[in-house]
Amino acid sequence: MYLRIDRLQVEMPMAEDPDPTAAAAVQELLGGRFGEMSTVMNYTYQSFNFRGKDKLKPFYDLVSNIATEELGHIEVVSATINGLLTGAADRAEATDSPLKSVAGLGNPHHFLNNGQTALVGNALGAPWQGDYVFNTGDVVLDMLHNFFLECGARMGKLRVYEMTDNPIARQMCGYLLVRGGVHQVAYAKALKELTGVEVEKMLNIPNISNNEIPEAKKFQDEGSHHTLYRFSPDDYKDIDKIWKGQHPEDGGELVVEDGPPEGGPVNPLAEEPQVFAPGYHPGELAEIAARLMR
Ligand code: MN
Ligand code: MN
Repeated sequence: MYLRIDRLQVEMPMAEDPDPTAAAAVQELLGGRFGEMSTVMNYTYQSFNFRGKDKLKPFYDLVSNIATEELGHIEVVSATINGLLTGAADRAEATDSPLKSVAGLGNPHHFLNNGQTALVGNALGAPWQGDYVFNTGDVVLDMLHNFFLECGARMGKLRVYEMTDNPIARQMCGYLLVRGGVHQVAYAKALKELTGVEVEKMLNIPNISNNEIPEAKKFQDEGSHHTLYRFSPDDYKDIDKIWKGQHPEDGGELVVEDGPPEGGPVNPLAEEPQVFAPGYHPGELAEIAARLMR
């Protein structure tokens, strides 16, 4: 089961400049084949379906624990998209055709289907699909897939970084490049434990260091790339059987930190009257709030 903490895994301020075009690109990191929906669902179902975990507990613990971190990543990417979309369209009081201001920018479904918020889809708006989940039950094959998935995810983040210079979108890419890098190394080490093959020698994939991306280097300088957080009060303790030794790039000591990162607040999202979100008039909202608090 899950406990939930109403915080983001990383400080993620609202975008200062709304940017629906960047929001559309960032969608690829949420609902694309190599996006966070795919990592969370691959690892989650692999953990649900894991056979023989009494003998392979460190691998079960690893995939379960990373799945839980990924659940927080869909939250961080959604928060980024929502920040980029807040204030993006003219507000209803200014004109009788407020959404004309965003026609042709980014993904129209953000405005036509959602309340200027994140879609469970990719940069083209195509929905995330369950057949992005790969789960054969063969532990080596599934870990190999997960390594590949993290490599593809890293490629996606680097390309979204190249498609937008919005500072908030880039900060999100930087953080997730570092955390995805941790997962790449973790699955490489899992494969080495299982097979003896030194998969980590293949890194970096793509062949560019996080230290070359200023928004990622900031988190590397804090040591985030050496840390695997344990997202459970009492369980998944055997992740330290795999997450140990040296980081393949800089030789730093790998550490398991008990508990989630400090993170940052979930930003409140302003009302957007032109898309009727949340749909009440301000006076009515105040009345409802007053009644609930009595
Ligand atoms: Mn992730
Ligand atoms: Mn990951």
